[in-house]
Amino acid sequence: MKTRTFIFFFTLLLVLSAGAPSLADRIKISVSGGYEEIQSFKKNNVVYYSLSELAEILGGQLDWELIGHRVRYTEDNFRFDFLIDAAYFKLDDSVFNLVYPVIYNKGQLFVPAETFTPFLDGVTVQKISWDSDARMLRVEPEYFNVTDFAISSKANGILIEVFLTSALNYDIFVTEGNWINISIPGARINSPRILSRRDPRFMYKMNVHQIGNTGQISVRLKRNITKWNHMLVFNPPRIQMSIPDINFELDPADTSPVIGPDNKIDVIVIDPGHGGKDYGAIGQQGTREKDIVLNIARELAKIIRKDKQFKVIMTRDRDIYVSLEERAEIANKAGADLFISIHANASPKKNICGWNVFFLAPAKNDSARAVAQLENSFFLRELSAGSNNPEDNEEDTYNDPVVSILNEMIMTEFQAESHDFAMMVDREFRRSLKIPARGVDQAGFFVLNKVFTPSVLVEAAFISNKNEEKILKNKDYHKQVAEGIYQAIKRFKAKYENQ
Ligand SMILES: [Zn+2]
Repeated sequence: MKTRTFIFFFTLLLVLSAGAPSLADRIKISVSGGYEEIQSFKKNNVVYYSLSELAEILGGQLDWELIGHRVRYTEDNFRFDFLIDAAYFKLDDSVFNLVYPVIYNKGQLFVPAETFTPFLDGVTVQKISWDSDARMLRVEPEYFNVTDFAISSKANGILIEVFLTSALNYDIFVTEGNWINISIPGARINSPRILSRRDPRFMYKMNVHQIGNTGQISVRLKRNITKWNHMLVFNPPRIQMSIPDINFELDPADTSPVIGPDNKIDVIVIDPGHGGKDYGAIGQQGTREKDIVLNIARELAKIIRKDKQFKVIMTRDRDIYVSLEERAEIANKAGADLFISIHANASPKKNICGWNVFFLAPAKNDSARAVAQLENSFFLRELSAGSNNPEDNEEDTYNDPVVSILNEMIMTEFQAESHDFAMMVDREFRRSLKIPARGVDQAGFFVLNKVFTPSVLVEAAFISNKNEEKILKNKDYHKQVAEGIYQAIKRFKAKYENQ
Protein backbone atom coordinates (compact mmCIF):
# COMPACT_ATOMS: atom_id res chain seq x y z
CA MET A 1 0.00 0.00 0.00
CA LYS A 2 2.74 2.39 0.99
CA THR A 3 4.65 1.76 -2.20
CA ARG A 4 1.56 2.36 -4.25
CA THR A 5 0.84 5.66 -2.50
CA PHE A 6 4.42 6.65 -3.03
CA ILE A 7 4.29 5.78 -6.72
CA PHE A 8 1.09 7.73 -7.06
CA PHE A 9 2.59 10.89 -5.59
CA PHE A 10 5.77 10.36 -7.48
CA THR A 11 3.83 10.14 -10.75
CA LEU A 12 1.81 13.19 -9.78
CA LEU A 13 5.06 15.04 -9.16
CA LEU A 14 6.37 14.02 -12.58
CA VAL A 15 3.19 15.15 -14.26
CA LEU A 16 3.29 18.51 -12.46
CA SER A 17 6.96 19.09 -13.10
CA ALA A 18 6.59 18.25 -16.79
CA GLY A 19 3.91 20.92 -17.05
CA ALA A 20 0.40 20.42 -18.32
CA PRO A 21 0.39 18.70 -21.71
CA SER A 22 -0.63 20.90 -24.59
CA LEU A 23 -4.06 20.28 -26.00
CA ALA A 24 -3.31 22.04 -29.25
CA ASP A 25 -3.31 18.79 -31.19
CA ARG A 26 -6.38 17.06 -32.45
CA ILE A 27 -6.63 13.73 -34.16
CA LYS A 28 -9.03 12.70 -36.87
CA ILE A 29 -11.45 9.84 -36.60
CA SER A 30 -12.84 8.34 -39.76
CA VAL A 31 -16.31 7.02 -39.08
CA SER A 32 -18.20 5.39 -41.94
CA GLY A 33 -16.87 7.70 -44.62
CA GLY A 34 -17.01 10.93 -42.62
CA TYR A 35 -14.55 12.53 -40.26
CA GLU A 36 -14.75 13.68 -36.68
CA GLU A 37 -12.04 15.20 -34.51
CA ILE A 38 -11.15 14.64 -30.91
CA GLN A 39 -8.62 16.23 -28.59
CA SER A 40 -5.19 14.76 -28.41
CA PHE A 41 -1.69 15.49 -27.13
CA LYS A 42 1.76 14.00 -27.16
CA LYS A 43 3.56 13.32 -23.92
CA ASN A 44 7.03 11.75 -23.81
CA ASN A 45 6.50 10.85 -27.47
CA VAL A 46 3.32 8.93 -26.69
CA VAL A 47 0.13 10.04 -28.45
CA TYR A 48 -2.89 10.29 -26.18
CA TYR A 49 -6.49 10.88 -27.21
CA SER A 50 -9.55 11.88 -25.28
CA LEU A 51 -11.60 8.85 -24.37
CA SER A 52 -14.28 11.24 -23.11
CA GLU A 53 -14.85 12.55 -26.64
CA LEU A 54 -14.43 9.17 -28.31
CA ALA A 55 -17.03 7.65 -25.99
CA GLU A 56 -19.54 10.24 -27.15
CA ILE A 57 -18.95 9.30 -30.78
CA LEU A 58 -19.18 5.58 -30.05
CA GLY A 59 -22.23 5.89 -27.83
CA GLY A 60 -20.59 4.74 -24.62
CA GLN A 61 -20.58 6.39 -21.25
CA LEU A 62 -17.90 7.65 -18.87
CA ASP A 63 -18.59 7.77 -15.15
CA TRP A 64 -16.30 9.64 -12.81
CA GLU A 65 -15.42 9.12 -9.22
CA LEU A 66 -12.85 11.84 -8.83
CA ILE A 67 -12.19 11.32 -5.14
CA GLY A 68 -11.16 7.74 -5.76
CA HIS A 69 -9.41 8.78 -9.00
CA ARG A 70 -11.51 6.20 -10.82
CA VAL A 71 -13.15 6.40 -14.22
CA ARG A 72 -15.47 3.79 -15.63
CA TYR A 73 -16.20 3.49 -19.34
CA THR A 74 -19.18 1.32 -20.23
CA GLU A 75 -20.96 0.20 -23.34
CA ASP A 76 -23.64 -2.47 -23.63
CA ASN A 77 -21.33 -5.44 -23.44
CA PHE A 78 -18.12 -4.34 -21.72
CA ARG A 79 -16.70 -2.20 -18.95
CA PHE A 80 -13.31 -0.54 -18.52
CA ASP A 81 -12.18 0.69 -15.11
CA PHE A 82 -9.27 3.12 -15.03
CA LEU A 83 -7.33 4.67 -12.22
CA ILE A 84 -6.04 8.12 -13.08
CA ASP A 85 -2.24 8.13 -13.53
CA ALA A 86 -2.09 4.35 -13.51
CA ALA A 87 -1.16 2.14 -16.48
CA TYR A 88 -3.12 -0.79 -15.09
CA PHE A 89 -6.82 -1.02 -15.85
CA LYS A 90 -9.60 -3.53 -15.63
CA LEU A 91 -11.57 -4.82 -18.59
CA ASP A 92 -14.62 -6.45 -17.06
CA ASP A 93 -12.92 -8.55 -14.36
CA SER A 94 -9.43 -8.92 -15.79
CA VAL A 95 -6.47 -6.66 -15.16
CA PHE A 96 -4.31 -5.44 -18.04
CA ASN A 97 -1.49 -2.99 -18.53
CA LEU A 98 -1.34 -0.07 -20.96
CA VAL A 99 2.38 0.52 -20.34
CA TYR A 100 1.64 4.26 -20.14
CA PRO A 101 -0.67 5.76 -17.51
CA VAL A 102 -4.05 7.23 -18.36
CA ILE A 103 -4.14 10.99 -17.78
CA TYR A 104 -6.77 13.36 -16.43
CA ASN A 105 -6.67 16.75 -18.10
CA LYS A 106 -9.19 19.59 -18.04
CA GLY A 107 -12.14 17.39 -17.25
CA GLN A 108 -11.33 14.65 -19.75
CA LEU A 109 -9.74 11.25 -19.62
CA PHE A 110 -6.85 10.68 -22.04
CA VAL A 111 -5.60 7.24 -23.00
CA PRO A 112 -2.44 6.20 -24.91
CA ALA A 113 -3.53 5.62 -28.54
CA GLU A 114 -1.11 2.85 -29.46
CA THR A 115 -1.70 0.56 -26.50
CA PHE A 116 -5.32 1.29 -25.64
CA THR A 117 -6.91 1.02 -29.11
CA PRO A 118 -6.32 -2.77 -29.48
CA PHE A 119 -8.21 -3.39 -26.24
CA LEU A 120 -11.11 -1.25 -27.37
CA ASP A 121 -11.09 -2.98 -30.76
CA GLY A 122 -11.29 -6.33 -28.99
CA VAL A 123 -14.59 -5.51 -27.32
CA THR A 124 -16.50 -3.07 -29.50
CA VAL A 125 -18.76 -4.23 -32.28
CA GLN A 126 -16.93 -1.90 -34.65
CA LYS A 127 -13.45 -2.44 -35.98
CA ILE A 128 -11.26 0.25 -34.43
CA SER A 129 -7.62 0.75 -35.38
CA TRP A 130 -5.00 3.37 -34.70
CA ASP A 131 -2.99 4.57 -37.69
CA SER A 132 0.05 6.15 -36.10
CA ASP A 133 1.48 7.47 -39.39
CA ALA A 134 -1.70 9.32 -40.30
CA ARG A 135 -2.40 10.04 -36.60
CA MET A 136 -5.90 8.85 -37.24
CA LEU A 137 -8.37 6.52 -35.59
CA ARG A 138 -10.36 4.39 -38.02
CA VAL A 139 -13.77 3.16 -37.03
CA GLU A 140 -15.43 0.68 -39.38
CA PRO A 141 -18.96 -0.27 -38.46
CA GLU A 142 -20.49 -3.73 -38.70
CA TYR A 143 -17.14 -5.33 -38.80
CA PHE A 144 -18.09 -8.75 -37.50
CA ASN A 145 -19.61 -11.48 -39.64
CA VAL A 146 -20.01 -13.99 -36.80
CA THR A 147 -22.21 -11.95 -34.55
CA ASP A 148 -23.92 -14.01 -31.88
CA PHE A 149 -24.46 -17.37 -30.22
CA ALA A 150 -27.46 -19.05 -28.61
CA ILE A 151 -27.95 -22.31 -26.76
CA SER A 152 -31.34 -23.62 -25.66
CA SER A 153 -33.06 -26.82 -24.64
CA LYS A 154 -35.76 -28.24 -26.88
CA ALA A 155 -38.17 -31.11 -26.36
CA ASN A 156 -35.76 -33.59 -27.90
CA GLY A 157 -32.37 -32.17 -27.04
CA ILE A 158 -30.16 -29.14 -27.23
CA LEU A 159 -30.04 -26.54 -29.98
CA ILE A 160 -26.95 -24.44 -30.61
CA GLU A 161 -27.06 -21.53 -33.03
CA VAL A 162 -24.25 -19.35 -34.37
CA PHE A 163 -25.48 -16.20 -36.07
CA LEU A 164 -23.78 -14.83 -39.20
CA THR A 165 -24.21 -11.75 -41.36
CA SER A 166 -24.10 -13.95 -44.49
CA ALA A 167 -23.57 -17.60 -45.42
CA LEU A 168 -20.12 -18.88 -44.43
CA ASN A 169 -18.45 -22.26 -44.66
CA TYR A 170 -17.91 -23.98 -41.37
CA ASP A 171 -16.72 -27.18 -39.85
CA ILE A 172 -17.95 -28.83 -36.67
CA PHE A 173 -15.94 -31.42 -34.81
CA VAL A 174 -16.51 -32.96 -31.42
CA THR A 175 -13.45 -33.86 -29.36
CA GLU A 176 -12.81 -35.74 -26.15
CA GLY A 177 -14.39 -34.27 -23.04
CA ASN A 178 -17.55 -33.34 -24.97
CA TRP A 179 -15.99 -30.35 -26.59
CA ILE A 180 -17.93 -28.97 -29.53
CA ASN A 181 -15.68 -27.00 -31.85
CA ILE A 182 -17.25 -24.84 -34.52
CA SER A 183 -14.56 -23.62 -36.87
CA ILE A 184 -15.37 -20.89 -39.40
CA PRO A 185 -12.82 -19.88 -42.07
CA GLY A 186 -13.14 -16.24 -43.08
CA ALA A 187 -14.74 -15.36 -39.76
CA ARG A 188 -14.45 -12.07 -37.96
CA ILE A 189 -15.85 -13.15 -34.70
CA ASN A 190 -17.54 -10.96 -32.09
CA SER A 191 -15.86 -12.62 -29.12
CA PRO A 192 -17.22 -10.50 -26.27
CA ARG A 193 -20.80 -10.88 -27.47
CA ILE A 194 -20.47 -14.63 -27.96
CA LEU A 195 -18.66 -15.17 -24.65
CA SER A 196 -21.42 -13.28 -22.89
CA ARG A 197 -23.78 -16.11 -23.95
CA ARG A 198 -21.85 -18.58 -21.81
CA ASP A 199 -24.54 -20.49 -19.91
CA PRO A 200 -23.40 -22.66 -16.97
CA ARG A 201 -26.61 -24.67 -17.13
CA PHE A 202 -25.39 -26.25 -20.36
CA MET A 203 -21.63 -25.93 -20.37
CA TYR A 204 -18.49 -26.07 -18.25
CA LYS A 205 -16.47 -23.84 -20.48
CA MET A 206 -16.66 -21.72 -23.55
CA ASN A 207 -13.69 -20.47 -25.56
CA VAL A 208 -13.68 -18.17 -28.55
CA HIS A 209 -10.59 -17.81 -30.69
CA GLN A 210 -9.74 -15.72 -33.68
CA ILE A 211 -6.60 -17.24 -35.19
CA GLY A 212 -5.72 -15.43 -38.37
CA ASN A 213 -8.73 -15.57 -40.64
CA THR A 214 -10.35 -18.45 -38.84
CA GLY A 215 -12.72 -18.08 -35.95
CA GLN A 216 -13.51 -20.89 -33.59
CA ILE A 217 -16.11 -21.29 -30.90
CA SER A 218 -15.50 -24.17 -28.50
CA VAL A 219 -18.00 -25.28 -25.92
CA ARG A 220 -17.49 -28.00 -23.34
CA LEU A 221 -20.95 -29.40 -22.88
CA LYS A 222 -22.22 -30.94 -19.67
CA ARG A 223 -23.66 -33.92 -21.54
CA ASN A 224 -22.19 -36.83 -23.40
CA ILE A 225 -22.36 -36.15 -27.09
CA THR A 226 -22.92 -39.29 -29.11
CA LYS A 227 -24.62 -37.90 -32.17
CA TRP A 228 -25.40 -34.53 -33.63
CA ASN A 229 -26.72 -32.83 -36.77
CA HIS A 230 -25.96 -29.48 -38.24
CA MET A 231 -26.93 -27.25 -41.14
CA LEU A 232 -26.83 -23.72 -42.43
CA VAL A 233 -30.20 -21.97 -42.32
CA PHE A 234 -31.32 -18.53 -43.46
CA ASN A 235 -33.47 -15.60 -42.30
CA PRO A 236 -31.35 -14.77 -40.40
CA PRO A 237 -28.26 -16.67 -41.63
CA ARG A 238 -27.03 -19.03 -38.92
CA ILE A 239 -25.41 -22.36 -38.21
CA GLN A 240 -27.73 -24.72 -36.37
CA MET A 241 -26.42 -27.71 -34.47
CA SER A 242 -28.79 -30.04 -32.70
CA ILE A 243 -27.77 -32.64 -30.16
CA PRO A 244 -30.57 -35.14 -29.55
CA ASP A 245 -30.83 -35.90 -25.83
CA ILE A 246 -34.33 -36.42 -24.55
CA ASN A 247 -33.17 -36.73 -20.94
CA PHE A 248 -31.58 -33.33 -20.69
CA GLU A 249 -32.92 -31.44 -17.72
CA LEU A 250 -31.86 -27.99 -16.73
CA ASP A 251 -30.74 -27.26 -13.24
CA PRO A 252 -31.29 -23.52 -12.88
CA ALA A 253 -29.17 -23.34 -9.72
CA ASP A 254 -26.21 -25.01 -11.36
CA THR A 255 -23.34 -22.60 -11.70
CA SER A 256 -20.31 -24.88 -11.48
CA PRO A 257 -16.91 -23.22 -11.44
CA VAL A 258 -14.54 -23.70 -14.36
CA ILE A 259 -12.32 -25.85 -12.19
CA GLY A 260 -14.43 -27.95 -9.89
CA PRO A 261 -15.53 -31.40 -8.85
CA ASP A 262 -17.30 -32.06 -12.15
CA ASN A 263 -14.51 -30.80 -14.26
CA LYS A 264 -11.69 -33.28 -14.14
CA ILE A 265 -8.08 -32.24 -14.43
CA ASP A 266 -6.88 -34.94 -16.75
CA VAL A 267 -5.72 -33.43 -20.04
CA ILE A 268 -2.05 -32.47 -19.72
CA VAL A 269 -0.40 -30.70 -22.63
CA ILE A 270 3.39 -30.86 -22.71
CA ASP A 271 5.12 -28.27 -24.86
CA PRO A 272 8.78 -28.99 -25.66
CA GLY A 273 10.22 -25.58 -26.58
CA HIS A 274 11.58 -24.74 -30.04
CA GLY A 275 12.23 -27.51 -32.63
CA GLY A 276 13.07 -27.84 -36.32
CA LYS A 277 14.68 -24.68 -37.67
CA ASP A 278 14.36 -23.09 -34.23
CA TYR A 279 17.26 -24.56 -32.25
CA GLY A 280 16.61 -22.59 -29.08
CA ALA A 281 19.71 -21.76 -27.06
CA ILE A 282 22.99 -23.53 -27.80
CA GLY A 283 25.54 -24.59 -25.19
CA GLN A 284 29.30 -24.07 -25.29
CA GLN A 285 29.76 -27.69 -26.36
CA GLY A 286 27.13 -27.34 -29.08
CA THR A 287 24.22 -28.92 -27.21
CA ARG A 288 20.92 -27.70 -28.64
CA GLU A 289 18.04 -26.69 -26.39
CA LYS A 290 15.48 -28.15 -28.81
CA ASP A 291 16.97 -31.65 -28.41
CA ILE A 292 17.30 -31.54 -24.62
CA VAL A 293 13.79 -30.28 -23.97
CA LEU A 294 12.27 -32.87 -26.32
CA ASN A 295 14.00 -35.63 -24.32
CA ILE A 296 12.73 -34.23 -21.02
CA ALA A 297 9.23 -33.84 -22.47
CA ARG A 298 9.20 -37.43 -23.76
CA GLU A 299 10.30 -38.67 -20.35
CA LEU A 300 7.52 -36.64 -18.72
CA ALA A 301 4.93 -37.96 -21.19
CA LYS A 302 6.07 -41.53 -20.50
CA ILE A 303 5.71 -41.12 -16.73
CA ILE A 304 2.31 -39.44 -16.91
CA ARG A 305 0.97 -41.97 -19.43
CA LYS A 306 1.59 -44.79 -16.97
CA ASP A 307 -0.99 -43.11 -14.76
CA LYS A 308 -4.22 -43.94 -16.57
CA GLN A 309 -6.21 -41.08 -15.07
CA PHE A 310 -4.36 -38.63 -17.33
CA LYS A 311 -4.30 -38.00 -21.02
CA VAL A 312 -1.11 -36.52 -22.46
CA ILE A 313 -0.85 -34.41 -25.57
CA MET A 314 2.46 -33.08 -26.87
CA THR A 315 2.73 -29.97 -29.03
CA ARG A 316 5.57 -31.79 -30.79
CA ASP A 317 7.03 -35.25 -30.28
CA ARG A 318 9.85 -34.99 -32.79
CA ASP A 319 12.24 -32.44 -34.19
CA ILE A 320 9.82 -30.21 -36.07
CA TYR A 321 9.06 -26.51 -36.04
CA VAL A 322 5.76 -25.62 -34.38
CA SER A 323 4.57 -22.01 -34.45
CA LEU A 324 3.31 -20.10 -31.46
CA GLU A 325 -0.25 -20.22 -32.82
CA GLU A 326 -0.10 -23.96 -33.47
CA ARG A 327 1.10 -24.67 -29.95
CA ALA A 328 -1.75 -22.68 -28.47
CA GLU A 329 -4.25 -24.22 -30.85
CA ILE A 330 -3.20 -27.75 -29.92
CA ALA A 331 -3.66 -26.96 -26.22
CA ASN A 332 -6.93 -25.09 -26.63
CA LYS A 333 -8.46 -27.64 -28.96
CA ALA A 334 -7.52 -30.46 -26.61
CA GLY A 335 -9.25 -28.69 -23.74
CA ALA A 336 -5.99 -28.70 -21.78
CA ASP A 337 -6.31 -28.62 -18.02
CA LEU A 338 -2.62 -27.89 -17.57
CA PHE A 339 -0.02 -26.62 -20.03
CA ILE A 340 3.66 -27.21 -19.32
CA SER A 341 6.29 -25.65 -21.56
CA ILE A 342 9.79 -27.07 -21.16
CA HIS A 343 12.95 -25.11 -21.88
CA ALA A 344 16.61 -24.70 -20.99
CA ASN A 345 17.83 -21.28 -19.98
CA ALA A 346 20.73 -19.29 -21.37
CA SER A 347 22.65 -16.23 -20.29
CA PRO A 348 25.64 -14.32 -21.66
CA LYS A 349 27.05 -14.71 -18.15
CA LYS A 350 28.35 -18.27 -18.34
CA ASN A 351 28.56 -18.75 -14.58
CA ILE A 352 24.79 -18.34 -14.03
CA CYS A 353 23.15 -21.65 -13.21
CA GLY A 354 20.06 -23.30 -11.70
CA TRP A 355 16.48 -24.16 -12.55
CA ASN A 356 13.44 -21.83 -12.70
CA VAL A 357 9.70 -22.21 -12.88
CA PHE A 358 7.78 -19.36 -14.51
CA PHE A 359 4.13 -18.49 -14.64
CA LEU A 360 2.50 -15.81 -16.74
CA ALA A 361 2.25 -12.35 -15.15
CA PRO A 362 4.02 -9.04 -15.73
CA ALA A 363 7.71 -9.43 -14.91
CA LYS A 364 8.80 -7.89 -11.63
CA ASN A 365 12.53 -7.93 -12.18
CA ASP A 366 15.03 -7.63 -15.02
CA SER A 367 16.28 -11.18 -14.84
CA ALA A 368 12.78 -12.65 -15.29
CA ARG A 369 12.08 -10.14 -18.06
CA ALA A 370 15.30 -11.19 -19.80
CA VAL A 371 14.25 -14.86 -19.78
CA ALA A 372 10.86 -14.00 -21.33
CA GLN A 373 12.51 -11.77 -23.93
CA LEU A 374 14.92 -14.53 -24.85
CA GLU A 375 12.19 -17.16 -25.25
CA ASN A 376 9.86 -14.75 -27.05
CA SER A 377 12.61 -13.67 -29.43
CA PHE A 378 12.67 -17.13 -31.01
CA PHE A 379 9.04 -16.70 -32.03
CA LEU A 380 9.55 -13.12 -33.14
CA ARG A 381 12.32 -14.17 -35.49
CA GLU A 382 9.72 -16.12 -37.42
CA LEU A 383 7.65 -13.00 -37.81
CA SER A 384 10.45 -11.00 -39.38
CA ALA A 385 10.61 -12.12 -42.98
CA GLY A 386 13.67 -13.07 -44.95
CA SER A 387 16.01 -13.84 -42.12
CA ASN A 388 17.72 -17.21 -42.23
CA ASN A 389 20.24 -16.43 -39.59
CA PRO A 390 18.70 -16.47 -36.12
CA GLU A 391 21.35 -14.03 -34.86
CA ASP A 392 20.41 -11.40 -37.47
CA ASN A 393 17.75 -9.51 -35.63
CA GLU A 394 18.50 -10.29 -32.03
CA GLU A 395 19.40 -6.66 -31.35
CA ASP A 396 16.24 -5.36 -32.98
CA THR A 397 14.07 -7.81 -31.15
CA TYR A 398 15.36 -6.77 -27.77
CA ASN A 399 14.94 -3.08 -28.50
CA ASP A 400 11.61 -3.22 -30.28
CA PRO A 401 9.06 -1.23 -28.24
CA VAL A 402 6.26 -3.40 -29.63
CA VAL A 403 7.90 -6.41 -28.05
CA SER A 404 8.06 -4.80 -24.67
CA ILE A 405 4.43 -3.72 -24.99
CA LEU A 406 3.37 -7.24 -25.94
CA ASN A 407 5.33 -8.51 -22.99
CA GLU A 408 3.25 -6.43 -20.68
CA MET A 409 -0.20 -7.15 -22.14
CA ILE A 410 -0.88 -10.22 -20.23
CA MET A 411 -3.88 -12.40 -19.79
CA THR A 412 -4.49 -12.82 -16.10
CA GLU A 413 -7.38 -15.25 -16.17
CA PHE A 414 -5.56 -18.29 -14.77
CA GLN A 415 -2.87 -16.46 -12.87
CA ALA A 416 -3.76 -17.73 -9.42
CA GLU A 417 -3.92 -21.39 -10.50
CA SER A 418 -0.75 -21.05 -12.60
CA HIS A 419 1.11 -19.54 -9.68
CA ASP A 420 -0.15 -22.30 -7.44
CA PHE A 421 0.99 -24.99 -9.86
CA ALA A 422 4.39 -23.30 -10.25
CA MET A 423 4.78 -23.41 -6.46
CA MET A 424 3.97 -27.12 -6.49
CA VAL A 425 6.64 -27.78 -9.13
CA ASP A 426 9.05 -25.64 -7.12
CA ARG A 427 8.43 -27.73 -4.02
CA GLU A 428 9.14 -30.97 -5.88
CA PHE A 429 12.24 -29.62 -7.64
CA ARG A 430 13.73 -28.35 -4.38
CA ARG A 431 13.42 -31.84 -3.05
CA SER A 432 14.82 -33.74 -6.01
CA LEU A 433 17.10 -31.56 -8.15
CA LYS A 434 20.70 -31.13 -7.11
CA ILE A 435 21.45 -27.94 -9.00
CA PRO A 436 20.74 -24.48 -7.50
CA ALA A 437 17.10 -23.42 -7.09
CA ARG A 438 16.28 -20.10 -8.72
CA GLY A 439 12.69 -20.76 -7.73
CA VAL A 440 9.38 -19.40 -9.01
CA ASP A 441 9.22 -16.18 -10.97
CA GLN A 442 6.81 -14.42 -13.30
CA ALA A 443 7.15 -12.92 -16.76
CA GLY A 444 5.33 -12.39 -20.04
CA PHE A 445 5.85 -15.47 -22.18
CA PHE A 446 3.97 -15.36 -25.48
CA VAL A 447 3.44 -19.11 -25.53
CA LEU A 448 1.66 -19.09 -22.17
CA ASN A 449 -0.37 -16.03 -23.05
CA LYS A 450 -2.28 -17.80 -25.81
CA VAL A 451 -3.22 -20.84 -23.81
CA PHE A 452 -6.51 -20.66 -21.96
CA THR A 453 -5.66 -22.85 -19.01
CA PRO A 454 -3.30 -22.82 -16.02
CA SER A 455 0.23 -22.99 -17.40
CA VAL A 456 3.90 -22.86 -16.44
CA LEU A 457 7.22 -22.64 -18.24
CA VAL A 458 10.06 -24.69 -16.79
CA GLU A 459 13.68 -23.73 -17.40
CA ALA A 460 15.34 -27.02 -16.47
CA ALA A 461 18.89 -25.61 -16.15
CA PHE A 462 21.30 -23.23 -17.92
CA ILE A 463 22.58 -24.67 -21.18
CA SER A 464 25.02 -21.76 -21.34
CA ASN A 465 26.72 -23.01 -18.17
CA LYS A 466 29.37 -25.68 -18.87
CA ASN A 467 28.50 -27.86 -15.89
CA GLU A 468 24.76 -27.67 -16.44
CA GLU A 469 25.11 -28.31 -20.16
CA LYS A 470 26.60 -31.66 -19.14
CA ILE A 471 23.82 -32.28 -16.61
CA LEU A 472 21.17 -31.45 -19.24
CA LYS A 473 22.46 -34.28 -21.39
CA ASN A 474 22.09 -36.77 -18.56
CA LYS A 475 19.11 -39.13 -18.78
CA ASP A 476 18.83 -39.36 -15.00
CA TYR A 477 18.40 -35.61 -14.82
CA HIS A 478 15.59 -35.77 -17.41
CA LYS A 479 13.89 -38.34 -15.20
CA GLN A 480 14.26 -36.23 -12.07
CA VAL A 481 12.78 -33.17 -13.76
CA ALA A 482 9.94 -35.23 -15.24
CA GLU A 483 9.18 -36.98 -11.96
CA GLY A 484 9.08 -33.63 -10.12
CA ILE A 485 6.59 -32.19 -12.61
CA TYR A 486 4.47 -35.36 -12.48
CA GLN A 487 4.25 -35.19 -8.66
CA ALA A 488 3.18 -31.55 -8.93
CA ILE A 489 0.48 -32.46 -11.49
CA LYS A 490 -0.98 -35.01 -9.07
CA ARG A 491 -0.90 -32.46 -6.27
CA PHE A 492 -2.65 -29.91 -8.48
CA LYS A 493 -5.31 -32.41 -9.50
CA ALA A 494 -5.94 -33.38 -5.87
CA LYS A 495 -6.32 -29.77 -4.82
CA TYR A 496 -8.46 -28.42 -7.64
CA GLU A 497 -10.71 -31.40 -8.23
CA ASN A 498 -11.73 -31.68 -4.59
CA GLN A 499 -12.28 -28.03 -3.93
ZN1 LIG B 1 13.60 -21.98 -24.76
